[in-house]
Amino acid sequence: MKETLATNTLSLRDVVKTYAMGTAIVRALDGVSLEIAKNEYVAVMGPSGSGKSTLMNIIGCLDVPTSGTYCLEGQMVAEMPEERLAEIRNRRIGFVFQTFNLLPRANILHNVELPLVYGGVARGERRARAERALQTVGLADRMSHRPNELSGGQRQRVAIARALVARPSIILADEPTGNLDSKTGEDIMAMLDELHAGGQTIILVTHEEHIAEHAHRVVRLRDGLIESDEARRTPVLSPAKAPALDLAAAAVGAA
Ligand code: ADP
Ligand code: MG
Repeated sequence: MKETLATNTLSLRDVVKTYAMGTAIVRALDGVSLEIAKNEYVAVMGPSGSGKSTLMNIIGCLDVPTSGTYCLEGQMVAEMPEERLAEIRNRRIGFVFQTFNLLPRANILHNVELPLVYGGVARGERRARAERALQTVGLADRMSHRPNELSGGQRQRVAIARALVARPSIILADEPTGNLDSKTGEDIMAMLDELHAGGQTIILVTHEEHIAEHAHRVVRLRDGLIESDEARRTPVLSPAKAPALDLAAAAVGAA
């Protein structure tokens, strides 16, 4: 048991999540058990409404199971004080969620700095790290712009910069290439691939098989249940496609 806790980054047991919709009860997750080890690259797939986003919210400590347990890096999430949960959300986990909106009135630099503000990092260091993260995603020349002055793909890159600025060990991406043209989508995936190569655990929701091909394991959900959970036979390693960015170093904080 101890060994399981030590070797698995996260472990869900019999997780159920229900929502009350008027008089009806929706079972968004209906008993999900899942273990994900450090540095795995997992794609979560399944039809709309199958529970993918609910699962990501629980993994990201943004929501709690109705029943069942969730253990993150050896600790039971349900037993953590709010302060510790906030620290996990700000420092241990990087979110690339479409619904995780950027602050519309703040410029891009400030948006990227935000997790560090919450993390209590001093102003000078905050700025330097945010600038570096934006350079890394190719947006050094957009730092003083506001989100609505950027394209969808650029905003998604801002979200990636924000996700990696705090050097999290886990990246959660919920349809990171949704709404993007295929070229921009591939750029985003190349960045995630590089973060994975740098040692981060990546969990990614997607509808698209060619996006899921970047992952080494595919978990399929249906009606709140895991329908299949398979290693991909041929992990795609395409260093030739990787952009000349030093994302992995930015993520782990190499100087
Ligand atoms: P997916 O991301 O796979 O499309 P979701 O996890 O968003 O699915 O939703 C799973 C089910 O739970 C759906 O039936 C959805 O309508 C319902 N659901 C999700 N969030 C809520 C909520 N906040 N309130 C009520 N029902 C919800
Ligand atoms: Mg969803």
